[in-house]
Amino acid sequence: MNEPAAAAVELRGRLRSLLFDLMLIPGLSGHEDRVRRRLARELDALGLPTRTDVMGNLVATATGEPGRPSVMLFAHMDQLGFIVRKIESSGLARVERLGGVPERALASQPVLFCVDGGRDRPGVIGNKSHHATSPEEKYRVVPYAEIFVDGGFSSAEEARAAGIEVGTPVVYAPQSIALAGERIAGTSVDDRAGCAIIVEAARALVSVAARPTVHFVFSVQEEFNLRGALAAAQTLRPDIAIQLDLMLATDTPDMASRGEIVLGGGPAISLYSFHGRGTLNGTLPHPALVGLFERTARALAMPLQRSAQVGVLTDSAYVQFVGGGVASIDVGFPIRYSHSSLEMCDVADLEALTRLIAAAIVGIDRAFSLDRDVER
Ligand SMILES: [Zn+2]
Repeated sequence: MNEPAAAAVELRGRLRSLLFDLMLIPGLSGHEDRVRRRLARELDALGLPTRTDVMGNLVATATGEPGRPSVMLFAHMDQLGFIVRKIESSGLARVERLGGVPERALASQPVLFCVDGGRDRPGVIGNKSHHATSPEEKYRVVPYAEIFVDGGFSSAEEARAAGIEVGTPVVYAPQSIALAGERIAGTSVDDRAGCAIIVEAARALVSVAARPTVHFVFSVQEEFNLRGALAAAQTLRPDIAIQLDLMLATDTPDMASRGEIVLGGGPAISLYSFHGRGTLNGTLPHPALVGLFERTARALAMPLQRSAQVGVLTDSAYVQFVGGGVASIDVGFPIRYSHSSLEMCDVADLEALTRLIAAAIVGIDRAFSLDRDVER
């Protein structure tokens, strides 16, 4: 095996094992502490001092050459899930949705009540006994307001004694599954895969002297309100923001008309994202950054996929408006089954994306212009 191939295999192995670890750590929006502590350890080991802001964002800065535009590279640590809203006298828990939870995929899911002090408790989302299900009910999606989580308790007192209260976070039961080839499925691939990639991009970049200043940011509350990263950007005031998250793979029969993103087909950039359901926001990438990623992928002889999607929104949509504007772009890895309890990605895509991002950032030199009127 030649040297670059051996390095790629090594990188793949590190990404895979870190992602498997991160998928198993619960971190509902607003409750990211356990994930943050794990990531802070990783950055520490790279010799990067970290700080945590009042929102809970984890930040590490690797100072680079003056005169190059500064970069904020970010991914979110949090995951979607539920919050207990009521404990019935029977001990069953009613929950509120936190984030874009697909109600269609909830029945009989295993979940975890996240209780401080190492007292997490398992539960299952109830699903009406099939024998008692009427023909009309058979194809009806049960709205979250009607579902309940059964932790096996026989009274509210018993549930409360176990540490479960109104406000207790509930997440999909953490799991990770190794599938054929480099494919894996598990909880919160969105966006623990992005977090793992940033750790590995940081590893590649810390030893490079000729590069811009890079702020590595692991953000909070993306699944809740998409604005956790905004607090970090307002403090850091970067020139460029690179947001790292999923790209919807469209290579399953149900997604075929939605786009051209293939799982295992390599990293992707988003040319258009928009969310109209009340939020009215999206990200149209800065052309200089589109050019940067296209050039870098070409130089690495790496395929670069393109995404344009309605219904997708990331926190770059808010970060781009900080100060006088931040040149922003969403880059990502293909994912299947987004927001369900088992999301799927391909580690080969993660590895290629890590190399792409590290090389693109090094390519941001003093001459790199964010001027809209420069000929490109
Ligand atoms: Zn995400």
